[in-house]
Amino acid sequence: MERTTDKVKLNTSPSTITKVDDAWLLHFPRFGEEGTHYHTYGLLTPYFEGLGAGRLMGTRCVNPKCPVSRGDGERWLPPRADCPDCHQPMVWDEIEKPAGIIYAYTWVERGGSGLEIECPYYQIDVKMDGVCTILKGYLRDRTPIQIGDRVRAGFLTGADATNTCLDIYWELV
Ligand SMILES: [Zn+2]
Repeated sequence: MERTTDKVKLNTSPSTITKVDDAWLLHFPRFGEEGTHYHTYGLLTPYFEGLGAGRLMGTRCVNPKCPVSRGDGERWLPPRADCPDCHQPMVWDEIEKPAGIIYAYTWVERGGSGLEIECPYYQIDVKMDGVCTILKGYLRDRTPIQIGDRVRAGFLTGADATNTCLDIYWELV
């Protein structure tokens, strides 16, 4: 394992966003203009808009007829447009000062083609306070870690935002 205090950097440039109704449409020229990948965030657009503004948005079920949430569901991340239990639309709910523990991790020395995170880095699963699911992400630190270490979220915002899921990163507390 490489012991360094350098922070992980991204090998990417911001994706262009246009809007179709309220949904973001991502233009991602991975392989030049002819190789542009188009991808809509659809009903999950508020999640990506939030990241670029330094806010982490989850979803929760508030349907009183839901057999699981009974109208007071826990927060989900990654967000879901519809509740997996009752299939009704979920509502957006911000996770303030997102923090949690490292639930699992992988030390990635070689990424596949197209990986936009500089290797080596830790890919981590984070169990967040107040969230019932586990979110996968990346750690900016490269110092040795253990399962259970506390982490907090940081965001790439403004001119640094990539308009992708890479706009949330984690750092050791
Ligand atoms: Zn539900």
